[in-house]
Amino acid sequence: MIRINENYTKLKASYLFADIARRVAAFTEANPGKPVIRLGIGDVTEPLPPACVAALHAAADEMASRATFRGYGPEQGYPFLRELVAQRDYAQRGCRIEPDEVFISDGSKCDCGNIQEIFADDIRLAIPDPVYPVYVDTNVMAGRTGPSEGGRYQGILYLDSTALNGYVPDVPAEPADLVYLCFPNNPTGAVATRAQLAAWVDYARRNRAVILFDSAYEAYIRDPSVPRSIYEIEGARDVAIEFRSFSKTAGFTGMRCAYTVVPKSLVAWDRAGDAHPLHALWNRRHTTKFNGVSYPVQRAAAAVYSDEGRIQTRALTDFYLENARLVRAEMGRLGFACVGGDNAPYIWVDVGRDSWQFFDLLLERAQVVCTPGAGFGRCGEGHVRISAFNSRENVEKALGRIGAALRQA
Ligand code: PLP
Repeated sequence: MIRINENYTKLKASYLFADIARRVAAFTEANPGKPVIRLGIGDVTEPLPPACVAALHAAADEMASRATFRGYGPEQGYPFLRELVAQRDYAQRGCRIEPDEVFISDGSKCDCGNIQEIFADDIRLAIPDPVYPVYVDTNVMAGRTGPSEGGRYQGILYLDSTALNGYVPDVPAEPADLVYLCFPNNPTGAVATRAQLAAWVDYARRNRAVILFDSAYEAYIRDPSVPRSIYEIEGARDVAIEFRSFSKTAGFTGMRCAYTVVPKSLVAWDRAGDAHPLHALWNRRHTTKFNGVSYPVQRAAAAVYSDEGRIQTRALTDFYLENARLVRAEMGRLGFACVGGDNAPYIWVDVGRDSWQFFDLLLERAQVVCTPGAGFGRCGEGHVRISAFNSRENVEKALGRIGAALRQA
C-alpha cells in the first residue's frame, strides 16, 4: 500500500489566496453588475520594459537559426547573466560576490522553498510572523514542524513583527539554526536598517546559524541609507544566502527569472562537527533537479542591466511606488496607521478590527479586494495588505470607492 507524505496533512486546509478567490467569486456571482478591483495578490500589471522585449525577440531569432541555436544551457545560468549580477548588483555596491556564487533560477518562490532541503531535518527554525507563507509551508512539508495549534506550527520559533518593533523582528534570546528574513517585507512593506541587519548577522555568527535573506523587493528601496543586500553588512558572506528576483524588479512574474547567491565561504556542519560549504550542496541540488532558465529569458534579464533597461525598470518601480504613495496617503487620511509603501510596493494597514471582517467590508461596500493580514500569520490579525500593483486608473478608482465606503460606514 503506497502511503503519502503525512506532513502534507498538517498544512492548514486552505491557502490564503484560494480563500480570497472563493469569496470574490461568490460576491461577483451575486453582484454581476459590480466589477471588483483587485489590490490583493502581488502580481504586476504593467508590460515588460522595451529593452527586455527587444532582447527576447533577438534571442528568439538566434534560436531560429542553426548557427546560433542553443539547447541546454548551464544549469546555474549563462555566464553573461551571472557576471552582470555579480558586477552590477554586488561589486558596484561594495559587496564581494563572485559570478559563480550566483545561481540563476526560474523564481525565488522555488528557491526559497527548495533551499531547506540542504539542511538537516532537526534544525531549529526562526520565521517571522506575519510572513510570506512559502517559508513555513515548505518546512511543514519536509517534516520540520509539529502540528498547527492556534494558528502556529509547533517547533518553529516565531519572530513577532508588530507595531511595537516597527514590524522588524528583534533578535531572540534563544538560539536558532535557520533564520528567514525578508526586506523590504512582504506583507508589511517594512524595511530593516543597517543596524538591525547587523544585529541579525551578529546573532547568526554567535549561534553558527544561517540567514536566508529574501530581497525580492530590493528594487523598491529609495532611501539610500537602507541596505539593499544582506552582504552590505560586514561578515554576512559567512552566514547568509540571498534570494532575488526579476519578478517585481522588471515585471518578470510571467517570464520567470531569479537568482540565489550562496557565498563559497558559507558553511554548515555535519553530525561529527565537520564543516561543509553550502555552495557545493546547493550546486549539487540545483544541477540534479533543475535544467536551467531558457536562453531568451536570461537574455531578457540581462537587458535589465543595459542603459535603457535601467532607466525603464526604474520607471516601472517608480510607477508602482507612486501607486503605493497614493494608497498610503488615502488610508492615512481615513485615519489608519500604515507602514510600507515608501520603499516597498505593499502597504500594511492597521485596521483595528478582524482582518477578514475588514476584507468583507471593502469587498461588499467598495468592491475592492485586499489581503487579510490573518492569512500571513497570527500577528497579521488586525491588519490588511494593500498592493500597489495595478494601473493608476484602477488604484485611483479603488481609493475613491474605499474613501466613500469608509466615510459612510
Ligand atoms: N519572495 C517574496 C517575499 C515574494 O513576495 C515573492 C512573490 O510574490 C517571491 C519571493 C517569489 O518571486 P518569484 O516570482 O521570483 O518566484
